[in-house]
Amino acid sequence: MADDADVIVVGGGLAGLVAATEMADAGKRVIVVDQEGEQSLGGQAFWSFGGLFLVDSPEQRRLGVRDSHDLALQDWMGAAGFDRDDDHWPKRWAEAYVAFAAGEKRDWLRAMGHRIFPVVGWAERGGYDAMGHGNSVPRFHVTWGTGPGIVEPFERRAREAERNGRLTFRFRHRVDTLVMTNGAVEGVSGSVLEPDPIERGKSSSRKVVGDFTLRAQAVIVASGGIGGNHDLVRQNWPKRLGEPPKHMISGVPEHVDGRMIGITEAAGGRLINRDRMWHYVEGIRNWNPIWPQHGIRILPGPSSMWFDATGKRLPAPLFPGSDTLGQLHYIMSTGYDYSWFILTQSIIKKEFALSGSEQNPDLTGKSWRMTIKRATNKGAPAPVEAFKQNGADFIVRDNLQELVSAMNALSGDNLLKLDHITAQIEARDREITNPYVKDAQVMNIHNARRYIGDKLIRTAKPHRILDPDHGPLIAVKLNILTRKTLGGFETDLDSRVFGTNGQIIQGLYAAGEAAGFGGGGMHGYRSLEGTFLGGCLFSGRNAGRAAAKATG
Ligand SMILES: Cc1cc2nc3c(=O)[nH]c(=O)nc-3n(C[C@H](O)[C@H](O)[C@H](O)COP(=O)(O)OP(=O)(O)OC[C@H]3O[C@@H](n4cnc5c(N)ncnc54)[C@H](O)[C@@H]3O)c2cc1C
Repeated sequence: MADDADVIVVGGGLAGLVAATEMADAGKRVIVVDQEGEQSLGGQAFWSFGGLFLVDSPEQRRLGVRDSHDLALQDWMGAAGFDRDDDHWPKRWAEAYVAFAAGEKRDWLRAMGHRIFPVVGWAERGGYDAMGHGNSVPRFHVTWGTGPGIVEPFERRAREAERNGRLTFRFRHRVDTLVMTNGAVEGVSGSVLEPDPIERGKSSSRKVVGDFTLRAQAVIVASGGIGGNHDLVRQNWPKRLGEPPKHMISGVPEHVDGRMIGITEAAGGRLINRDRMWHYVEGIRNWNPIWPQHGIRILPGPSSMWFDATGKRLPAPLFPGSDTLGQLHYIMSTGYDYSWFILTQSIIKKEFALSGSEQNPDLTGKSWRMTIKRATNKGAPAPVEAFKQNGADFIVRDNLQELVSAMNALSGDNLLKLDHITAQIEARDREITNPYVKDAQVMNIHNARRYIGDKLIRTAKPHRILDPDHGPLIAVKLNILTRKTLGGFETDLDSRVFGTNGQIIQGLYAAGEAAGFGGGGMHGYRSLEGTFLGGCLFSGRNAGRAAAKATG
């Protein structure tokens, strides 16, 4: 039977778009199938903050940050903690990826018109020793234009290939099976879903109106992870993080359903490290939701005080922005699946950023005029103020007594004792007058302000939490927010998928989140952030280039 294309890509997210455009540019005929409508092209990346892990970039150097490949690799290995036999390919991918991030990544993107906001962010700061988890230096480079700005070059290339007849999109085509002959993949088949003009990101109809089969020499699975499917998240929840949370909110749209992972596994693909995932602990319920249970992650600066559900301050070094999974582990050990920030108006104004393109209209809209207000404005950015006013998890009061009483009312658990919270805040406040102190979080604040980027837009001047001049007081109830799948299909450096028998499955490739961003889990246990979009770029590019070569 004649092939419909040289290669079929399952998924029009970032990884799929990168793979497809690389193949089309190499002269191949490509079909991209996606269960969603055309309006959702770009998948999760569109919604993302557009943060990219880059090493020793001109942006870092301009800010006085001295970074290097060796320092980044040290940090990556400290974060990943590779310790399994299955980590052979993940580790090789990690090494290759760090070299990409320290090498051609920035120039490759720049040649396509991609640009970066000049202040580099400092995510996952760790707080252990030099070989432990965390970024030793700021490396989180925000795309000018956020998520849409990272999708744009690849969508542009894809549309051009479409016009040239090399690339065809089949939207509302949901793959249900991989077509196999003698152990090799020869295509996909599935259901045609009814057209649905629903807005991007909202749940679309699943009504089936037809079926399809498409044949090609190769299939690239770029179908994303499992974060939108809480049942799958709970099923794969690792024991080392305690019991799965009873209550979670979703940091991804519903189409991140993990269904294609099961389909690829059923076809013989070897899924590894399925118990490694990356969920956030600073999730807030979106007062203006787009997808079901829509939550937003706060990207916190270092100053908010963090309390567990019982009112105990989180132990060092679990300060805001230090160690996401360390915090998740601690919080789940308390027997409750939420925690609290207590902060001041001065802190929220300077330190709260919300992850997501729609929450950052200044950067997403590429407006310098609006962006500059981050440094000069009296209040917090408008989307943060909107959450403060409308968000179900925000409480604003003029004094601590009223704040704590409202916190107890909001959780309904009545676990917080005013005396206990007051004593901890007053103790911390006594540490604030000297620049050399013993409170590790206050030391962190001083350390952060030595970095010009943090001083400018991310770290409030040290002050007493109970100083009314910096008020009002704010409490935020923090939920667990699902996001990324760190495990995935085991692949070699050409993104070819291994079968359960340890042999490459002919014709089958995986990229992006479905491949654990490469190899089946190049992050190991933890991420340094900005590594997911970058993982889609790198694994999508490798898959596209390798499949183009292999299909002659
Ligand atoms: C709000 C938010 C902020 C983020 N911020 C950042 C950031 O700053 N930096 C960073 O590095 N990462 C960030 N991320 C993570 C990053 O965006 C994702 O990990 C990445 O975009 C995943 O891309 P993907 O192509 O692998 O999968 P997806 O984007 O999930 O795309 C997969 C596509 O496959 C389709 N599909 C699935 N199953 C089928 C099927 N059976 N048949 C047909 N089609 C199917 C889906 O409809 C979807 O379009 C963020 C994510 C979100 C949601």
